[in-house]
Amino acid sequence: NSYTTKSLLAGEIAAGSPVQIKGWVRTRRDSKAGISFISVNDGSSFDSLQAVVPSSLENYETEVLKLGAGCSVIIEGELVESQGQGQRFEIQASRVEVVGWVDDPETYPIAKKHHSFEYLRTVAHLRPRTNAFGAITRVRTTLANAVHNFFYQKGFQWINTPLITASDCEGAGELFRVSTLDMANLPRNEQGAIDYTEDFFGRESFLTVSGQLNVEAYCLAMSNVYTFGPTFRAENSNTSRHLAEFWMIEPEIAFATLDDCADLAEEMLKHLFKTVLDERAEDMAFFAQRIDKEAISRLEHVANSAFERMDYSEAISILEKCGKSFEYPVKWGLDLQSEHERFLAEEYVGRPVVLMNYPKEIKAFYMRLNDDQRTVAAMDVLAPGIGEIIGGSQREERLDVLDRRMAEVGLGQELGWYRDLRRYGTVPHGGFGLGFERLINYVTGMENIRDAIPFPRTPKSAPF
Ligand code: ATP
Ligand code: MG
Ligand code: MG
Ligand code: MG
Repeated sequence: NSYTTKSLLAGEIAAGSPVQIKGWVRTRRDSKAGISFISVNDGSSFDSLQAVVPSSLENYETEVLKLGAGCSVIIEGELVESQGQGQRFEIQASRVEVVGWVDDPETYPIAKKHHSFEYLRTVAHLRPRTNAFGAITRVRTTLANAVHNFFYQKGFQWINTPLITASDCEGAGELFRVSTLDMANLPRNEQGAIDYTEDFFGRESFLTVSGQLNVEAYCLAMSNVYTFGPTFRAENSNTSRHLAEFWMIEPEIAFATLDDCADLAEEMLKHLFKTVLDERAEDMAFFAQRIDKEAISRLEHVANSAFERMDYSEAISILEKCGKSFEYPVKWGLDLQSEHERFLAEEYVGRPVVLMNYPKEIKAFYMRLNDDQRTVAAMDVLAPGIGEIIGGSQREERLDVLDRRMAEVGLGQELGWYRDLRRYGTVPHGGFGLGFERLINYVTGMENIRDAIPFPRTPKSAPF
């Protein structure tokens, strides 16, 4: 008869039933009439469940009256309808077992004090016990499941791509090197370069920045596939939108054009937004109340309106004519910065925008060359308030065109296996990457991406 607070608060168990809960005390209040009210949270629900503890319990004086925020308890009793305001149910306690005390109850800072998100990032035991991180964690869980469910229902296969890899897929040079060589005594070849033949894999290796090249191999055999896992980028800028370790969702679809990729991205995002609104109403109410008052209305709006589709070239002329002064220059051929992306999505269109057909020079080598020879079939999904949340493309499926492009960017034989995919039954295909933490920030309205992941590691600071 042990239950989560979620199931008891939701009325899944009849009043009058004997129940047990296990969790952590949020608050204790004592009444003059000789009863104490203890609210317990076990992480399953935003709201805590209240236990009414009578002074007749044998450990009332010795233990119950010493309970404070953070203590862990097991409480048994009868589920009863609550007399007070607020919740429908509470527990009439017949037994309170203290499992773990708090070492320094005078200073343990959880109950009434407000802590900044910056401070909480440094306190591993406190952060997950706050309302905000409880809510973020439940939303994260719901979104991850919704991602898998979405693809499972559409018949996609889930491909686990390697975390240690030999290729720099994006060519952006933001790689973390992985090596077993002795850093203090690196083996050198005759030219003085590091000799990786002595390394564990016999060659230079990195943490993956994207699983895309690998998912393409499975896509060109199994049609529709996706990967969902951690990726690593040594981002040199310190922004509220970039993490060094983040998770990415990367579907890849066969016999598909760029429009098919845009359709899939839109359908997936809407499915994810609707699932969160349906399943995490309490947590979303918290975000709307405390973090961003538009959190719910924005999602409802976006889940029910068509995304705008626009060419890069059109976006450039809009930005040039809009009369706003931007920090970074706007010119055909330059990449957009987040201020430009946000202007387009937030102010110009007021909905997510799928921006398509970028100049080839600013995009990765694997994107399909358009007939104009100057642009590639790339797309970015830009969200109001955040800018790019998805980057994708139709891939270059023609071997001769791919070879020319690889030569232009100085890529050679190391991608022989990738070229082979174009030699044996190639087909038009494409896909995209959705940053999981960017998605979480978009959904919750949280400002800093570091607060969308349980253990943020950031440049020059890695407490964990
Ligand atoms: P940005 O322009 O914001 O740096 P990008 O174009 O470098 O992003 P892509 O290579 O297109 O990113 O990756 C696909 C998606 O992964 C992005 O749209 C974004 O949602 C997410 N992403 C990229 N880099 C990071 C990062 N450092 N931290 C968190 N999410 C990221
Ligand atoms: Mg980047
Ligand atoms: Mg980008
Ligand atoms: Mg991108």
